[in-house]
This record gives sequence, C-alpha cells and structure tokens, in this order.
Amino acid sequence: MGFHTLLIEARGAERAVVGEALPATTLRLLHELGLDAAIAAADALRCDEIIQQWSGDDEIVRPTSVAMVDRNRLDRALIATAADSGVDVICPARLRAQTETPEGWELDIESAAGATRVTARFLVDARGRRAAGSRLLGPSMVALCGRWRGVSFGRPQLRIAAVDDGWVWGAPLADGSFVAQVYQRAADCAGLSPTTRAARYRATLQTTRLFSMPADAVLLDPVRARDASCRLAITPVTPRMIRIGDCCVAMDPLSSQGVQSAIRAGLRGSAVVNTILSGGDAAAAIEFYTNAVAADAARHREASAAFYTDVAGRPSLFWRERASAPPQPQHVPTEPLVRPLRVRLSPDARLIDHPVIERDQVRRRPALIHPRLSEPVAFVQGVALPSVLAPLGRVHDVSDILAQWSSTMPPQIAQALLDWLIRHEVLLDDDLPTGPVEVASADPAAYHH
Ligand SMILES: Cc1cc2nc3c(=O)[nH]c(=O)nc-3n(C[C@H](O)[C@H](O)[C@H](O)COP(=O)(O)OP(=O)(O)OC[C@H]3O[C@@H](n4cnc5c(N)ncnc54)[C@H](O)[C@@H]3O)c2cc1C
Repeated sequence: MGFHTLLIEARGAERAVVGEALPATTLRLLHELGLDAAIAAADALRCDEIIQQWSGDDEIVRPTSVAMVDRNRLDRALIATAADSGVDVICPARLRAQTETPEGWELDIESAAGATRVTARFLVDARGRRAAGSRLLGPSMVALCGRWRGVSFGRPQLRIAAVDDGWVWGAPLADGSFVAQVYQRAADCAGLSPTTRAARYRATLQTTRLFSMPADAVLLDPVRARDASCRLAITPVTPRMIRIGDCCVAMDPLSSQGVQSAIRAGLRGSAVVNTILSGGDAAAAIEFYTNAVAADAARHREASAAFYTDVAGRPSLFWRERASAPPQPQHVPTEPLVRPLRVRLSPDARLIDHPVIERDQVRRRPALIHPRLSEPVAFVQGVALPSVLAPLGRVHDVSDILAQWSSTMPPQIAQALLDWLIRHEVLLDDDLPTGPVEVASADPAAYHH
C-alpha cells in the first residue's frame, strides 16, 4: 500500500515455547500470502491423527491435518520476509513508551544501540497477549510448558487429555523432541518457585495415560509458565492506532487458531489503516474493525464454551468455572431443500449501509440484515445481495426469478443463491400462511439505510 513501515520487535532470538500446531487452514492462508518459504523454514512436522481422552475415560483417535512448527524458526522467517519486502526492522528492540501528538506518535525505543525516538503517523500494536489495555474474557489460565527428549509415541500424533484440574496437550516436533503443555487455573500456579512449578507439571502429566513419559525421558528446558487466558482489547482501534493479534483478541490455545486469527486480523487491519491514512471513510473503517473484533470474540467464546462443556461434571474449580452451557447457534436446516413454487421477501429483511472491505479500503455498501443472519451479509456466491433483492417485487414465481437472475449470472449460481435465501428465510414460501405480519414492500426505497 506504499506506506513507510517500521517494525520494532523485542524478542531477538527465542520464544519461551517453540512448538505450536498450525491447522491446514492456517498453512493454506500462509500459502495464499506467498509465505511458503516461511513454512519451509519452520521445520514443520505433519500430524494426521489426534488422540484424545476428553469427555470420558475412553481414548478416541480421529484424523486431523495439522503441522507442528518451530515458532522461533517461523517467526524469524516472517521477520526476514518483512525486511525483504521493504519494512525497516529493528530487532531486538523494545518499545518503551508511546506519546500521542497532534501528528501521530512519538515512540521511545530501546535497543543494544541505545535509546532512540521515532515519530509515526500510525501505531499498529501487536504486542501479544500480555500487552496492556485488555480485559479477561473468561477465567484466567496458565500453560506450564515443557519440551522433552526421549519421548516417542509412535507415529506423529497430537495428544490431548482432560485431567482433574485442567487439561494437557502435546505433540512431537521435527527435531525429535516432544512438547507437552499443562493448562491450569492461573491462581493455582501463581508464585510457584521453578522447582515447585516443575514438580506440579510432572505430577499432572503422570495423572494421564496419554502422557506417561518413559523413565529415561529428559526435560530439555526449565518448565515455563505462559499466560493462556482469553482476552479482548478494550479499545481495538482509534483514528491513530490499531490492535492486532493476541493484543486484540487472545483466544484459548485449545482452538489452535491463534496464529491464523492474528494473520487474518493483520490483513483486515491493513485495509483499515489504509482507509484512515489515505483519507477514506475513517468512521466506516473503525466501525468495520470494531464489529469484526466483537464477532471474532463472540465466535471464539461459543467455540470454547462447547469444548469445555463436553467435560462438564468434573468437580474441580477449573471445570466448574468453565461449565456454562454454550449459546445455541441459529439453526439453519441442512436437509435437502424442497423449493416452493412462489416466494415472497421476508418482512424482516432489510438493507442497511454497512462497512465492508473492498479491495484495500473499507467502504460503506448496502448489506442484508435478517434475524436468521448473525451479521450483515453483502455478498452470497460472489453476488451482491442488494442487486438481486432490491428489484424483487412483492411475490414471485421461482421460475421467473431464476430466469431473471440467470441473465446476469451462471444458472447454478442463481440456484445456489435462491436456495441460500430460502434456507435463511429471507425468501418465504408464499403458499404458507403469513400470520399477522404484513408483507414488506420490496421497493428499495422502503429499506432502512
Ligand atoms: C501456551 C500457548 C500455546 C499456543 N498454541 C498455539 C497453537 O498450537 N497454534 C496456534 O495457532 N496458536 C497457538 N497459540 C496462540 C499463538 O501463540 C498466538 O495466537 C499468536 O502467536 C499471536 O501472535 P501475535 O503476533 O499476536 O502475538 P505474539 O506471538 O505473542 O507476538 C507478540 C510480539 O510482540 C513483541 N513485543 C511485546 N512487547 C513489545 C515491546 N514493548 N516492544 C517490542 N516488541 C514487543 C514480542 O516480543 C512478540 O514477538 C498458543 C498460545 C499459548 C499461550
């Protein structure tokens, strides 16, 4: 987008925890961004199976598609790619203080070369889960992380087990080591000496068959404690600053979606920053990002609530704190659709002006809202909904609609679009009784803007 960018990264060499799982969807995203070289550098080890002992005593094996990567190597490769792409990189260097000025920011940076001050029009805060300015999204949690030599469970598998006061996750890395992480309440692990922390870690591993380590297995590094609580930024974006990644929405590591979600936030965020700095609709950009962050957090809360309620029933505080029932998602029928002969537009369907990303800017565009949709929808099957909904009259023969749409789109897209609108009850069967609700006029002027 042509902006002069400076990356300040504090961690020169090492991350506390090297092994992370990247699902196939994350790898695909990195590939689409042209980052295959970074994946290759990350020493990825493919795991096609997950073995879990989660909601009962039984061990369940199911297929998965995940790459275990060395985050140190991946992160180093990503920083090198940024530098090759024209980003100025200062690493290792720490941002010590930031002061907002009428023009933007004054940033105080400390590195081996000493203290420097730089000015910037815009600040992208990606300081991770521990950054200031967020609130907890649920009970706090800590991960006790260790890496082992001399542990082999046969072919590469992810392992996950629920234990009395938390859960345990582990997987092998390409270098032959094995990563095992114990997740517990933060309060239970606070203030432990390194020796007591390691003893607690080992004792927890011993409580589960899936992690019974051989007698000659050796812990390679000291056991480290890493904050694993879910958090949400209080202010995700302002006209001069945006928060990206864990610093904005920090997810439960159980989902293995943290890296992917951080990259997606970076992509979205770049369009937001571009809109603001190039004089576009800054209010739309801020509204767009704020909505997207809230939707991410809500989706994430639902997904992790579902994971944890599967284990409901264990008596410890860890599980009781997480045992609330997940909100029920809206049911959209998936059984084969019987298309009605005639349809009418639902009186609950409205078009609103909604901020969306178009190429590399955020703009307001008409989008559909309806009680069946969790968020406004501008496009389905690549077709702009307003362009097909606005011209619809009061009641329509389905065959007329398909014929009309097929002049501007392939017939199979027209059919898929029609089915989507019927499934989501945006188009209603006109032969079913209407009840007391009046049928809305489909005149575009009658839509809310
Ligand atoms: C125990 C655990 C296990 C996880 N496992 C997985 C997994 O298997 N798969 C997955 O996808 N995700 C996993 N995650 C989540 C994943 O690590 C994060 O979601 C992801 O790294 C987010 O990236 P980020 O860039 O936002 O934050 P981070 O990766 O935390 O990066 C933040 C960066 O900011 C730098 N920084 C901080 N303060 C300053 C400062 N003042 N000046 C300069 N630089 C600074 C830090 O050095 C760091 O490099 C796990 C998380 C935890 C806690």
